[in-house]
Amino acid sequence: MQEEMIKSEKTKIVSEMAAAVAHEIRNPLTTVRGFIQLFGADDLDKQKKEFYQKICLEELDRAQLIITDYLSLAKPDPEIIETIAINEEIQYLSNVLMTYANYNNIQISGILSEDPSLKIVGDRYKFRQALINIGKNAIEALPEGGLLEIMANGTGEEVFIVIRDNGIGMTPEQINRLGTPYYSTKEKGTGLGTMVSFGIIKKMSGRIGITSERGVGTEYTLSFPRVNG
Ligand code: ADP
Ligand code: MG
Repeated sequence: MQEEMIKSEKTKIVSEMAAAVAHEIRNPLTTVRGFIQLFGADDLDKQKKEFYQKICLEELDRAQLIITDYLSLAKPDPEIIETIAINEEIQYLSNVLMTYANYNNIQISGILSEDPSLKIVGDRYKFRQALINIGKNAIEALPEGGLLEIMANGTGEEVFIVIRDNGIGMTPEQINRLGTPYYSTKEKGTGLGTMVSFGIIKKMSGRIGITSERGVGTEYTLSFPRVNG
């Protein structure tokens, strides 16, 4: 596999992007508002009505996607910093991703660390958001089904989380653009998921390694400082 290390330093801190994301949500809302006003016209024919409705639904779906990638779990600051038991989170992530993978012939395999005492520190809900966004991309990279593995292990100083899919993979250019706002190759992508994830991971003093190859798959290796207690 082609190897590229992504330095989370190059991504912006999540909070810096809050204003931009608010703007992204405001746009679809403004559009929907406009079309609802048009619905009030007396001479509205069936065709126009259906057209307006279609746009409204699409715009609302878009707002929904932005919220899922950016705000679904994260609580407003101040962050609550706590100790996070890694095996518990692997379990949680596997269960949540199962709901995204439904109907798609995707097998999700959560492999817990043999050492159940692996812990890190951070805001649990933001950490979950970071992992879900990465896991969601893995699922979306498996349009014909496949395997998604989520594994935890560690050393005395570090905790590793590996998220691996055997999906469509990425070119080196794609890997380079990961984590930058609004970069998406998907028809309905927000291009916010990895930016949010990388920002959260960076804040937790985490590092992100990515290997990926077109047609073979993608592997994220996240590492965090290990804590005791
Ligand atoms: P979005 O998912 O809305 O497109 P993201 O920031 O989450 O935005 O991801 C940006 C892009 O990175 C995706 O559009 C995709 O091209 C690529 N990508 C991320 N993860 C993977 C993966 N596991 N496999 C293939 N491509 C990926
Ligand atoms: Mg995404």
